Amino acid sequence: MIQKEVLDSILSFCQIKHPNEGILILKGKSKNGEITINGLVIPPFSEAGPTFAGFPHSFLPFDMSYVGIVHSHPSGSAEPSVTDLHNFFGLVSMIVQSPYDENSVFAWDRNGNQIPHSII
Ligand SMILES: [Zn+2]
Repeated sequence: MIQKEVLDSILSFCQIKHPNEGILILKGKSKNGEITINGLVIPPFSEAGPTFAGFPHSFLPFDMSYVGIVHSHPSGSAEPSVTDLHNFFGLVSMIVQSPYDENSVFAWDRNGNQIPHSII
């Protein structure tokens, strides 16, 4: 589940970063396998281009509220790339496709399986 205002912030962030990828850390909580996303953190030292976005995980403080990452695919598919799965962080990886509306958002688990998500 993702809060509407968090989703809106993600979508506008991705629009600003276009045509480059944008990347953000998802904050939230996980309870009984249900993940609720309620905030965002801009990762330190992030790098991004048209086909990649990342940051060194070693600079992150240990924070249990970091539940995953969201990044955009300005021209790619909504599916995570091999690199995305290799750099998986946390519990969920959200990918936002152009044109960055509410139907452009997809959530994936560590194995590359799609996770259903709802807006609250
Ligand atoms: Zn990607």
